[in-house]
Amino acid sequence: MSDIWVIAENLPWAATLIAGAASIKNDAKITAFVNGDEAAAGGAIAAGAAEAFYLPLPANAVWEGYAPALSEKARAEKPDLILLSASRRCRDVAAQLAATLDAPCFSEGKNITVSGDGVTVDTLLYGGLAIKNSVTSASTVLVTMGAKDFDPLPVDASRDGPVSALRLADNAIAVTGRKPRAAQTVDLAGALKVVGVGRGVSEEGDLGLARELAQAIGAEVGCTRPIAEFFKWMPEECYIGISGQQIKPQLYLALGVSGQAQHYFGIRDARTIVSINKDKESLMNANADYYIVADWKEAAQALLKAVKK
Ligand SMILES: Cc1cc2nc3c(=O)[nH]c(=O)nc-3n(C[C@H](O)[C@H](O)[C@H](O)COP(=O)(O)OP(=O)(O)OC[C@H]3O[C@@H](n4cnc5c(N)ncnc54)[C@H](O)[C@@H]3O)c2cc1C
Repeated sequence: MSDIWVIAENLPWAATLIAGAASIKNDAKITAFVNGDEAAAGGAIAAGAAEAFYLPLPANAVWEGYAPALSEKARAEKPDLILLSASRRCRDVAAQLAATLDAPCFSEGKNITVSGDGVTVDTLLYGGLAIKNSVTSASTVLVTMGAKDFDPLPVDASRDGPVSALRLADNAIAVTGRKPRAAQTVDLAGALKVVGVGRGVSEEGDLGLARELAQAIGAEVGCTRPIAEFFKWMPEECYIGISGQQIKPQLYLALGVSGQAQHYFGIRDARTIVSINKDKESLMNANADYYIVADWKEAAQALLKAVKK
């Protein structure tokens, strides 16, 4: 293994994947493909890439429209491993590349190692209840990875390396119109504190109290999947877990969340977990650093009063 590609929708994510690539094989040549301009590609070099391509996005293009150009380049250069950000659009790129290159693609892979047998990757099964360990000897292997799987290497602005633009294929999808969706103002992935709302918050009107508490402690508000997908009380981008957002805040405060494995997967890297749940035996309480056995509304009102003091 000598060539690792990193494909990311933004520079911070590219930087974490570059660190991941360096940890997998420290003498590999790392080539970064990052959405943005020349400065973004320069940032990828400073973050540890040997060569970087920037993928500018004209108004009438979509980022996943770069898949054919990336595929053509991969066919010519045959990278051993391609790490991609596990964002919605980049997953689309991963699927297109895997299909056109006839290469295996591991979603949200972990613990990637390289040995004489090939590439070994861990992926989660059964909503995070089991880990599957796969070994492949394919000549190119694709793995999508989370935004926080690695800490970026220290930025070294003095690093030098070739930087150029990748061109969209002439027949790339052209956007003929755009319809704005409701503004998404929540930055759960980057939040230092997150209040998580679960089904224990049984009335949509009670979300106001959860939001008030979150605002008082400087937190964003996220939720469990049923709150977003079934009740539609919050946008789907707000749900946390294996099939939603994976977060790494300093504090996660769970209100009426049962803490099933699929949700816990998304908060397992939180530094401190506090659960308010009326069921003492709930999984959320069992996995929390601190828990309060109470009706969440009573506890939240008491916390709010204390914080306001
Ligand atoms: C393939 C798959 C993927 C999934 N992916 C995700 C995912 O990414 N994210 C996710 O969140 N879920 C996911 N799920 C669903 C997950 O399994 C759980 O069903 C879900 O997380 C439960 O949500 P909840 O905690 O809000 O609700 P419940 O499990 O219903 O828990 C409600 C909790 O609130 C407590 N409670 C009730 N009333 C009060 C009160 N007044 N005060 C305090 N506590 C109270 C209860 O004791 C209980 O613990 C997935 C499921 C599958 C099968």
